[in-house]
Amino acid sequence: AWRSMLTQVVGGAIRRPALSSFSRGMQTVTLIPGDGIGPEISTAVMKIFEAAKAPIRWEERNVMAIKGPGGRWMIPPDAKESMDRSKIGLKGPLKTPIAAGHPSMNLLLRKTFDLYANVRPCVSIEGYKTPYTDVDLVTIRENTEGEYSGIEHVIVDGVVQSIKLITEEASRRIAEYAFEYARNNQRNSVTAIHKANIMRMSDGLFLRKCREVAENYKDIKFTEMYLDTVCLNMVQDPTQFDVLVMPNLYGDILSDLCAGLIGGLGVTPSGNIGANGVAIFESVHGTAPDIAGLDFANPTALLLSAVMMLRHMGLHDCGNKIQTACFDTIKDKKVLTKDLGGNSKCSEFTAEICRRI
Ligand code: NAD
Repeated sequence: AWRSMLTQVVGGAIRRPALSSFSRGMQTVTLIPGDGIGPEISTAVMKIFEAAKAPIRWEERNVMAIKGPGGRWMIPPDAKESMDRSKIGLKGPLKTPIAAGHPSMNLLLRKTFDLYANVRPCVSIEGYKTPYTDVDLVTIRENTEGEYSGIEHVIVDGVVQSIKLITEEASRRIAEYAFEYARNNQRNSVTAIHKANIMRMSDGLFLRKCREVAENYKDIKFTEMYLDTVCLNMVQDPTQFDVLVMPNLYGDILSDLCAGLIGGLGVTPSGNIGANGVAIFESVHGTAPDIAGLDFANPTALLLSAVMMLRHMGLHDCGNKIQTACFDTIKDKKVLTKDLGGNSKCSEFTAEICRRI
């Protein structure tokens, strides 16, 4: 039973993290525009990519949960086929229908492509007022197990047990991904976050694997820190942090805290890295149904997710060019969407970024 639980949670065979090795020339990317403001912000990203002459060919696919053979929830086969082939996806927000039994779309995508690493770079944007300046850190969250392994049961009436599952394989692959990310993105240090003083066996195992992996990356400084110490230090001086790697629950909480340091979900990109070389980049905000179709949406989070995607594909120069145009537009303050403190439409903000490229 444990073996099958494990297989379910970590998704079968464990593979080394897939690293990008994209050749030059046009690359196909599966674009999932999503719901609500998704199509508006996706159009904005496509326009900016065109202005930057990014070597990307978009293959658009709709994604919603459908019932497959045996009543199992799945994503539409043409979307799955496109992702399997392109290996790279850019995704707008997807609404999760409230109907009972309907799965969360993000969970379904995570399971379909074994997306084991959630990566969120948090970089302060000059000119956008936030409590801190000069934040430049990356949270890397193990995304398949820990407290979110979904193993819960009633022991006796009034007593519930929820199991935190930590495996050697999943700990090693997230640690390897964190060090590879640090190396490929000119980062200096990786900090493993844990509570191994309390959860000696589970977090102890996670930490041991991080230490072992660190031995193979002598060029990257390795440190370890208790989660509570990180929280204290993070609000006192977030600039001391670089790459942070941690188990699932800690990552869920800390990555939102870090997004708050740089101005919230509207400007925070993210990437989900999977086995078999698949990676899906997405904005972390929702579908914003209150402003959908009104040309009010801020496309920054999806655009910066697309920049992350370019860097993942080795297209650093193109990514840097687009990021600079976006940050300069915000710094200049003349053309900003409402949520950024301005009065401009999504299309005007997009045109201004294109003009600066
Ligand atoms: P939301 O993020 O959609 O909206 C919260 C508030 O933020 C709203 O006032 C909205 O107008 C604003 N907002 C969000 N993104 C914005 C942007 N890019 N530009 C300007 N304003 C923006 O959160 P919600 O209302 O709780 O969720 C709505 C739907 O989105 C739900 O169906 C939920 O399931 C889904 N959702 C999807 C994802 C995802 O796909 N990653 C994440 C969260 C929520």
